[in-house]
Parts: sequence; C-alpha cells; structure tokens
Amino acid sequence: MNKKTIRDIDLKGKKVLVRCDFNVPLDENGKITDNTRITAALPTIQYLREQGAKVILCSHLGRPKGQVNEKYSLKPVADELTELLDTDVKFASDITGSSAQSTTESLKDGEVALLENVRFDPREEKNDDSLSAELASLSDGVYVNDAFGSAHRAHSSTEGVTHHVDESVAGLLMEKEIELLGGVLESPEKPFVAILGGAKVSDKIGVIENLIDKVDEILIGGGMAFTFLKAKGYNIGNSICEDDKIEEAKKIMKKAEQEGVKIKLPQDVHVTTDFSNDTPDKMVNVDSIPEGYQGLDVGPKTVMEFQNELKDAKTVLWNGPLGVCEFSKYTIGTERIAEAIANTDSVSVVGGGDSVAAIKKLGLADKFTHISTGGGASLELLEGKNLPGLVALTDKEHTQKEVSDKKNEIENKDKDVHLR
Ligand code: AMP
Repeated sequence: MNKKTIRDIDLKGKKVLVRCDFNVPLDENGKITDNTRITAALPTIQYLREQGAKVILCSHLGRPKGQVNEKYSLKPVADELTELLDTDVKFASDITGSSAQSTTESLKDGEVALLENVRFDPREEKNDDSLSAELASLSDGVYVNDAFGSAHRAHSSTEGVTHHVDESVAGLLMEKEIELLGGVLESPEKPFVAILGGAKVSDKIGVIENLIDKVDEILIGGGMAFTFLKAKGYNIGNSICEDDKIEEAKKIMKKAEQEGVKIKLPQDVHVTTDFSNDTPDKMVNVDSIPEGYQGLDVGPKTVMEFQNELKDAKTVLWNGPLGVCEFSKYTIGTERIAEAIANTDSVSVVGGGDSVAAIKKLGLADKFTHISTGGGASLELLEGKNLPGLVALTDKEHTQKEVSDKKNEIENKDKDVHLR
C-alpha cells in the first residue's frame, strides 16, 4: 500500500482523530448482536494507546438521516469498548459540540474517547467542509482512517477531514483490508477461482468485469445466477431475474469464453412455489424448473461440481450467498461452499454479510485467510474503483533507498548521453 499508516508517524502525546466503522447490528433493546466490527478496530486503538496518543474515536451507526435519534446512539459501543479494552472509554454526547470538546480536551496520553454518531449531523454525508474542519480541530492535526467499510464514501469524517489536518494515515485494519483484497487482485496464485452469489447481478456486474482478466474461473450461484440462466435460454419459472441485465450477462459470458475463463452456472436448483421456507419444495435440473416455481438455492449436483472446481484452487474470492440464507431450508449451498473453501489450501478472501455469517455459524472463520469487514467498500475495490477515503490519505514518501536508486539511474543516463 502506498499510503502512510499509523506506524509511519509520531503519535506521542498527540490527540488523534480515528474514523472507525462501528456500524454494528443492534437488537430492539439496543444491545449489540455482533461485535466483529468493534474487535476488528482494537489493534489500531491499542497501538495508538501504546504509542501514548490521546485517542478520539468517531463512527457512524445505521441511517439516522442527519438527525439525532437515540436508537442509533454509539453509547452501547462505548460500553463495549470499555469492556474489551479494559479501560474507561469516555463517551461524548455530541460530535463536535461542547461535550466533544471538553471530553477530548481532558484526555491524557493513552486514554480513549468516542464521539456520538457522526450521521446525527446532516453535514456528514454532504461532506460539508465546516463539519470536516470542526472534526479536525478536535485533534492535534493527526487523522487516522480505519473505517474500511466506509472508505467508498466521501463524507466529512472519511474524506473532508483530511483537508484540515497535517497527517492523514491508514489504521491497521484499513491497511490489512487493502493489502489482502488488493493483493489478491494484483498477484493471485493460480488457479484463481471466484464465487459470486447474492440477490442481484446489477450489484456484481462491475466485479465480474474487473475479475474476468484476473481469474481462471467464476462460479455463480444465488439469485443472480437466474439472469445468466435466462440469458442462456433456460425457462427459470418465477425465479428472481433482472431482465434489463440479460444483454450484459450475455456479453460477460461471451467475453469470458474469448478470454478462456470458465463461468459455471448451477446445473440443478432447489425450488419452491413461494418465497417462503414453508411451501412445497423439490430439487430439479435447471432445464426443468416447473411453471410457478422459483429457485431459492443451488442443488446437490451444483454443490458437487463447485466443490470439485474449488479443490485445487490456490486463490479463492467469495462474495454473496448461493441461496436464500434467511430460510433454513435454503442455506445448504452456501454452507457446503463455505466448507469446501475452508478445506482448500488456498489464500481465501471473503466479503458480504451472508457469506461471512455462514462461515461464523459453522465455526470456520479461522480457516479463511481474510474475512472482509466492508461490504460495499470491498465490492468497489473488487470493481477496480478508487476508494475516496483511501485516496485522501497521505502518500508514503519514497524510502531513502528508492530516492538514491532514482538519483543513480538519472546520473547513469546522463553519463550515457555524455559518452555518446
Ligand atoms: P447480496 O446482498 O447481494 O449479497 O445478496 C444477499 C441476498 O441474496 C440475501 O438476502 C439472499 O436472500 C438473496 N438470495 C440469494 N439467493 C437467492 C435466490 N435464489 N433468490 C432470491 N434471493 C436470493
């Protein structure tokens, strides 16, 4: 990664503003139901504390649409952090107001504060410069972006703030996400197999297009497979389909054929009459989906074929479930594929809420090289797009060696010119 990280700068005694992604799921009583995103931020927070920084955390949570809404308060996150860090995490009841100012002013080296939800302020999502400046002024000119999950958004706390500080650097989670997801795309060990699922082709078209000249094979399942199957002329019954994407699906399959990339679609599907766990179901081949039925999962022949394709993979990228995981009957494809990847001897990188949930449910998380914390951001990175929150960070200066190598190269060229 060509961006500076927290390891590249002096942090001692400085107030450091850190954008995290604490967008965690809460139940109806405001209790955190999955703290993965909080634990993922701990290495950065601990490092900053060890270096003697005064740590000021900020994040968004949910979609409060620019209004204060207690339902989306970050207070439960402050409590969770207090427990996980085993130190009192001070909570400011506003973002840049009097509570934030007094809380951050009183911080001692190594102490931690959390500001209230940045999206309670309507200026955040507009990337309003006045909020960016106010956020920056809480710090001593040092900003850390560790919110990979929000890096595809140019908001005040992810992008605008970088214009008002001296140093904008990546946190350890951001660095890990970029190096692993980006690394897989840059120099994958082959065979490289991508598995894509989920509801919509339209969400993943950019990813498929960017992957075609990098992968050996793409396995497609989930709802998005039906648009491809229809493009191939199959009758898909009532299965989910984006008719306006059929032409694009055809183009993708043609390009893959020209480039020698295999695209595998389901051979059989688990169908039912309604979008429900309780209606009559059966397994059918894709050429015999009965009228009035819809496919909610891949069938056993497809699972076997996909397992077989994955066996020798050295790099695996997976995003999106192969079936409707919300219904217990239709989780089988996703779970078998999670197991198949876990059994490979590959670099495996996974993103997307449902795929990650299946991996965790099966207790397979430690069998994967990297489980991404960012849904939208990881998709945009896989599409080959620039992430505004990353682009805005300070570039790494060239190392002394790179500078002297460059100087030598120029001098040698000059010598050549004189000799001629
Ligand atoms: P995504 O957010 O694109 O990763 O998609 C996840 C959603 O895809 C989940 O809510 C699944 O219920 C849905 N999904 C997966 N397979 C199907 C299918 N065969 N039909 C309809 N929806 C599906």
